Order: sequence, then structure tokens, then C-alpha cells
Amino acid sequence: MAKHPPTTPRIGFVSLGCPKALVDSERILTRLRADGYDMAADYDSADVVVVNTCGFIDSARDESLAAIGEAIAENGKVIVTGCLGATPDLIRETHAEVLAITGPHQYDAVVSAIRAAVPAPQPTRSAGSAPLEVKLTPPHFAYLKISEGCNNRCSFCIIPQLRGRLASRPVGDVLDEAERLVAGGVRELLVISQDTSAYGADIRYAPSRWRGRDVRARVTELADALGELGAWIRLHYVYPYPHVDELIPLMECGKILPYLDVPFQHASRTVLKAMRRPAAEARTLERIATWRERVPDLTIRSTFIVGFPGETEANFEQLLEWLEAAELDRVGCFKYEPVAGAKANELPGGVPDDVKDERWHRLMSAQRAISARRLAAKTGTTIRVIIDALCDEGAIGRAMGDAPEIDGNVYVAGDHAEVGSIVSARVTHSDDYDLWAQLVEVEPDGLGAH
Ligand code: SF4
Repeated sequence: MAKHPPTTPRIGFVSLGCPKALVDSERILTRLRADGYDMAADYDSADVVVVNTCGFIDSARDESLAAIGEAIAENGKVIVTGCLGATPDLIRETHAEVLAITGPHQYDAVVSAIRAAVPAPQPTRSAGSAPLEVKLTPPHFAYLKISEGCNNRCSFCIIPQLRGRLASRPVGDVLDEAERLVAGGVRELLVISQDTSAYGADIRYAPSRWRGRDVRARVTELADALGELGAWIRLHYVYPYPHVDELIPLMECGKILPYLDVPFQHASRTVLKAMRRPAAEARTLERIATWRERVPDLTIRSTFIVGFPGETEANFEQLLEWLEAAELDRVGCFKYEPVAGAKANELPGGVPDDVKDERWHRLMSAQRAISARRLAAKTGTTIRVIIDALCDEGAIGRAMGDAPEIDGNVYVAGDHAEVGSIVSARVTHSDDYDLWAQLVEVEPDGLGAH
């Protein structure tokens, strides 16, 4: 282990929240490392602690406030950044002693606050050299954030207040970052944003030169270009706007994974209207059927909210019927929680907690049966699996239809797989959410997406 010079200041870092916040943490840590700071492994050895917070729903806000309290108790010198930083009064009410508060993706401001608290040492890189990017994910996969903020106004959500309007990164920057990541050994890129299908709308889809041609800042063109890199490309938070249909040919020809994460949130027109969801009018069942006709192994993931204000039993049953018809592969479900500052708080027809609970259980049990059915149908087929970890029986990985953390696992029996490798495996059995498979062969590095 390298000897730590006693004068090098060390920064403690606590990262909470979603993958978008994780990418913010990676960017802040990259800047700090370029400035010559070291990272502290615990509170005791840190000269200052940064807490990157989440403020999406009240429970996340409570968790963030508790993490700030813990850092103050354990270390004393604390800087807060991230979504909850957009409401500094709320933080100061509970924790008056924090040194500084900055909002989400305010990298300059948080780094300035750290420098004010603990002066920067000498930079560790020579002038002009690129900073070594800090990644908080395992070496074989990485999140690729293509935009900040959101122009939608869903009534239950305060993200636009916290993170501002849509601000898309130039497509050339995104592709350069993706190329660097793949060159550094990443085999799976997870494209994230608040609304991936809206990418580029704010910059009029401005093109960038890349590999000798113009690529427009539009999700389909971005996905097409990413598909040339030879890594798995997984798209998250894709709203069902009409142009999403243009992604299907990219799946058909194997440029991107046959995976769509579409946060439908509900199926009742009335509830969707009250939620003010984008693309709420889209005829989703028909479109799902068309997508599946063209890409039979397509995995669709989604999230839903039950107990939204005004949701009647009939609205909820409509959602259940829709789920049975849609047969989505992966579903997350949340019980509606009012968020301070959200428009939905003004809506009449609050649903009692016991009814929310009951609807949540009914939805999850219906979906469990759908998931089990869809996974059982894979028995006997050969699938591709990316390996996340090794275990006594072999390896734990994910199929093309499984995103890390949120979807299922594939338990692969057999030797010779390595973490980060992609293997083919024959499915032997399944349960409600996971698959078991026998290793067939390890693919050599550098294969295309399919
Ligand atoms: S699309 Fe809706 S839920 Fe998603 S971040 Fe934007 S406003 Fe919030």
C-alpha cells in the first residue's frame, strides 16, 4: 500500500441516492483527486466529510438528514451537496453546524467549499494531462449520464425544482467519455438521465463530429453511435414518446441491449393525467406488442405508483389488468408518498395507508407470478451473462435483461468465468426473479453487443 504523506488532506465521502447522484459523486471525486486530495476510508481519518444527499421523497430526505447527523457526530466538519442541498434551510434547521451546502451537480461550488475548509495540496498530475476519472461502480460497468434536469412537470415530483431544466451534454462529450470507459475495460454502459428520450431537445439536437461524421444529440443517434463501441449498451428512463420506436431496429441488429426501462407509473388515463405524465396518451399496450414482435427477447422494466391521490379501486384494477396484458418482465412499485413542494399534495382524494399497502401487495403478487412465468420460459435456452462476482458454486451475473442492483441475477454453475467477462450459459431453472444456468463458454473480450 502506498505510504500516505502526512500533509495530504483526506476527504471522506458519503454517496446516497440514485445512479445520477452516484455519477455526481464520481465527478466530484475526480476533481478532488486531480487537485491532489486523498480519499479517507473512515470518518476518523478524514479532514472533512462530504455528504452527497438525495431529497426525492420524504424517506430519502430523512435518510440524508440522518447521514449528515452521523457525519457531524463522527467527524464534525461536514459539507453537504446533492439534491437535498437545494433546500438549505431545511438542512440548517436540523444541522446548523454544516460548513457549506451546495445543490445537485454544482461541482465547482462543492470543490470550492472543500478547498475553503481544507486547502488543496499540490496537484498530482502534470499540466495538460487528463484527470484520472474516479469510478464508484465495479470496473466492468459504468453509468453514463447524458443530461441533467428535466422539462416535465409530473405532479408528484420535485426533481425539476431540485435539478433544474433539461441540460443535455454535447453528444461528442458523451461519446468521448463512453470511448474512454470502454478503453479502460468497461463492458457495459448504463445510459442514465431524468428523461433519456428527451435528450438533446434543449440544444436543438446539435451535432458533434465523431469518428469522422456528424452525430446529432438525439437518443436514437446517440444509441446508434454507442453501439459501435463493442460494449453492452443499456438504456434507462426512456419515456414512450413516438421516436422511441426508432430504438427497436438498434436492438434488432444487436447494437444496443434488448432492454427498455420505461417508467409507466400507472395505466389509468385519469391517474396518469393527474400525475401529468409525459406521453400519457401513448397507446402503450399496442406499442409493447409491436416492440416484442420485432424483438422477441426484449426485456421491459418499469416502475409504478399505487395510492396516488384520487386513485379509485376501479383505477387500480385497470392497472392490474394492464399489467396482466402487458406482461412486463421487471416491475418496481412504490406506495405514493407526498413530497414537500410537489403539486400532487394539493390534489383531493388522498388514499389511506392501509389501502395503499393492500394495493401494493396485490400488485406485487400479480407481478411476481408474471415474472416467474416469463423466467420459467427461459429454461433450456442459452443466454449471455455478464459476470459480477464469483462464488463457491461458480459465478453470479446478469443476463442482457438485468440491470445491476434493480433487476435479477443469474447464478452460473461451472468454472472459468471471471468477474467482468461475458459468458454464454444454458438456463437450468428459475424462481420468481432469478435464473440458474450452466456455463457453456466464456466469450473472448472485444465482441460486439450481440
Ligand atoms: S419525468 Fe417526471 S418524474 Fe421524471 S424527473 Fe421529470 S418531472 Fe420528475
